[in-house]
Amino acid sequence: MNPSDNPFRALPQVQKLLEAPAAGALAEHFGTGALTQALRTVLASARGTIGEGGTAPDATLLLERAAALLATRAAPGLRPVINATGIVIHTNLGRAPLCAEAIVAVSDVARGYGNLEYDLASGRRGSRTASVEPLLAEITGAEAGLPVNNGAAAILLALSALAGGGEVIVSRGELVEIGGGFRIPDVIRQGGARLVEVGSTNKTRLSDYAAAVGPDTRVLLKVHQSNFRTIGFTEETAIAELAGLAREHRLKVVADLGSGLVARVPGTTEPTLAEALTAGADIVTCSGDKLLGGPQAGLILGSSEALAPLRKHPLLRAVRLDKMSLAALEATLRLHRDSPERIPVIRMLGESDAVRAARAAALRDLVGTGEVIATDGFAGGGSLPEERLASRALALDPAIGPDAAATRLRTGSPAVVGRIERGRLLIDVLAVADAELPALAGALRAIL
Ligand SMILES: *Cc1c(COP(=O)(O)O)cnc(C)c1O
Repeated sequence: MNPSDNPFRALPQVQKLLEAPAAGALAEHFGTGALTQALRTVLASARGTIGEGGTAPDATLLLERAAALLATRAAPGLRPVINATGIVIHTNLGRAPLCAEAIVAVSDVARGYGNLEYDLASGRRGSRTASVEPLLAEITGAEAGLPVNNGAAAILLALSALAGGGEVIVSRGELVEIGGGFRIPDVIRQGGARLVEVGSTNKTRLSDYAAAVGPDTRVLLKVHQSNFRTIGFTEETAIAELAGLAREHRLKVVADLGSGLVARVPGTTEPTLAEALTAGADIVTCSGDKLLGGPQAGLILGSSEALAPLRKHPLLRAVRLDKMSLAALEATLRLHRDSPERIPVIRMLGESDAVRAARAAALRDLVGTGEVIATDGFAGGGSLPEERLASRALALDPAIGPDAAATRLRTGSPAVVGRIERGRLLIDVLAVADAELPALAGALRAIL
């Protein structure tokens, strides 16, 4: 057989490909090591094709394949998504978008060093949470505040420090699962405390708590019904009543509010952080990335005396916040004090119907087709489960069908997550920022 007829011989060597002009830019962008590996991969697959009787690709085609492979491998797994679901605080989509001030603060502190645990005035070791604690006190009226890694960590730390080895009394109506298998009874056990359930699913009275108090009781726990409501023949015991009972028996009241309402949002019935504290809770916990609108964090608020055992507990180290989250939290809390309307979650929840309608109309004009319809939006994230937000969506009838279209939107760039209702693809504008409209319209036109 004539060697020039051997198709394997027609394949260029890796070294030859690396010397090609097109390879220079790729090596610069992705690194020579990564490019060499990618070329080996595409050459191996070309040999496979030839072995099955195919023809040898030329150098240009091989470099193109290597470039495509490198681009796929360099694409981040965690990437931005346009939230067209009509749910503002969507746990699967990363909950709260950060305010502009928080984004700047994160990038400033990420770039270099910071005074994370360093007191610049004295030149000595400082407190990691010193920048955030006064703001927590200022916006909630709490005597003291302590930020940790998330809401679950806040409850775990509070119960471990205040009730470890003792008993925690909680209503049967509040033994909730918050999501992802996170259940209040498990957290109590993990914190080394014994759970004492009182009352029934729909009714728990002060007398139920009072009858359960014993020598080992440490904490009366109140858990906000975050993602469901019991309605109808129901009764629950208010924080103020629990506080009275706790004083008599020298117990602590811990209230897990979950969503972290700083100021009343129209239509909400759940207590704000300040209201729960004023009602007499010794400790109030919540998430940082739900209604607070900040980064993933857990906030623990209360009296200095109630928080003292938490500050000394070994778990605190395991659930502490990193510098980027602390920077974002500080910036978000400052906006709660000075101009809350600049926090994206607060702005979205407070927007008027007319603003949402105008955004949907603008989207329709950019896309050039579709029907603007009224929808029910939700705050989400275990906040205000019953309150519907009057929103608008662009309803589309793509030729490829709603399911195929939704899949292409999710896997496209930018990724868009909408929802399907009655056979139509709905693009809800409730949680879409005005700045996202051109990119969103582009993604929609591409699938229509
Ligand atoms: C969301 C929620 C939590 C958990 O908070 P994470 O920040 O998700 O850890 C705990 N309790 C309640 C009532 C909640 O709504």
